[in-house]
Amino acid sequence: MTTAISRPRRPAQVADPDLPDAWAMARAQLRASAARTGIERDVVERLSHCEREFTLNFPVRMDDGTLHIFTGYRVQHSLARGPVKGGLRYAPTVAIDEVRALAMWMTWKCALVGLPFGGAKGGVRCDPHSLSDGERERLTRRFAAGLVPVIGPAVDIPAPDLGTGPQEMAWFMDTVSMHVGHAQPGVVTGKPVSVGGSEGRAEATGRGIALCTAWAADRLGIDLHRSRLVVQGFGNVGATAARLIHAQGATVIAVADAGGGIHREEGLDLVAVARHARIHGTVAGFPGTEPVGRNGILEVPCDVLVPAAVEGQITSANASRLSCRLVVEGANGPTTPEADEILLARGIPVVPDILCNSGGVVVSYFEWVQDLQQFFWNEAEVNARLGAIMRTAFEATWDRATTSGTTLREAALDLAISRVAETIRVRGLYP
Ligand code: GLU
Repeated sequence: MTTAISRPRRPAQVADPDLPDAWAMARAQLRASAARTGIERDVVERLSHCEREFTLNFPVRMDDGTLHIFTGYRVQHSLARGPVKGGLRYAPTVAIDEVRALAMWMTWKCALVGLPFGGAKGGVRCDPHSLSDGERERLTRRFAAGLVPVIGPAVDIPAPDLGTGPQEMAWFMDTVSMHVGHAQPGVVTGKPVSVGGSEGRAEATGRGIALCTAWAADRLGIDLHRSRLVVQGFGNVGATAARLIHAQGATVIAVADAGGGIHREEGLDLVAVARHARIHGTVAGFPGTEPVGRNGILEVPCDVLVPAAVEGQITSANASRLSCRLVVEGANGPTTPEADEILLARGIPVVPDILCNSGGVVVSYFEWVQDLQQFFWNEAEVNARLGAIMRTAFEATWDRATTSGTTLREAALDLAISRVAETIRVRGLYP
């Protein structure tokens, strides 16, 4: 039995009014890729829309006895290649267009690494840090119950994302299991190992980012042992990536989360920083460091920059001030198309999100496979399979960019979107 972990309460995050429109950005990427690869209009039109979109307004009893109506979404972008897959986000900024963009990016991500899934995403507009454990549990269970008719191991398999983790997935799995009358671990991934989760899943996204960083550094002649690393985002993904890239020799000089950032040129003690963050709810204020803003951190001079927070962080407003040799995208959509242009002109390569952060969904796929076959692998086996799949996708992306003269992002999108387009073409149009 897993127990709820109490989280320190943080100040509520507020929506950033300047955040670029992620859905417009995602659709523009699709159109540009289709123009490069010559995908026909009908297929582009189908992929420009999300196939199914669900909005749930649902009640939750709060600790003070009041009733609060929360709004949640589940968007299934493309069902062409298999069941749909993607995380559930709890954040005050959750909105339908953001969920649509994230669902579309999941379709491309799954196709790029060759998983038999389409893309989906969901979320609940709430501030998870201001909810008690009991409120989070009731919210998660009611949201899961509302989704029962439209999810399932053969249909749609949610997973953790920003603001959710193994505990929410365990509640989710339990609620769906109660509804269907038997344990159904394959309905959700990112669960604790004790309820059918996979070894290696918790670290998988960070591990994939660390692998891509090492391979990209190798291709670019960057010696990680002499490199300074900056990571924006110190949740599960950012903190694991920082630790594993540090284990490969890099010095982590700055990290930031929603509460602020810290900088120490001689390097940070990541174990101590993680302990501080657990106690205080943020890395900010860690002794012996200079404070940096969570946006200012992107401009700290370094060799490798890993934006691992949220979308729309590297924009036309700050891309010219980045001072790094390589950007490795841990978050989904952290760089806007305008910023991509600026970084291209400045000769700063960007290893794209749908490649770098695919480790999470790859091990989610392993978790789903293990749940369905009811036969489980050890961590070494999971990590070896993860490395093999990501290496293939990394090589294919890098080689395509080199031979076609595109950026790495364009190469990744072109490979992924062409695969989805081919599936749609071959399946044809019903009726
Ligand atoms: N939320 C993660 C992502 O954006 C994981 C999704 C999954 O495992 O299904 O890739």
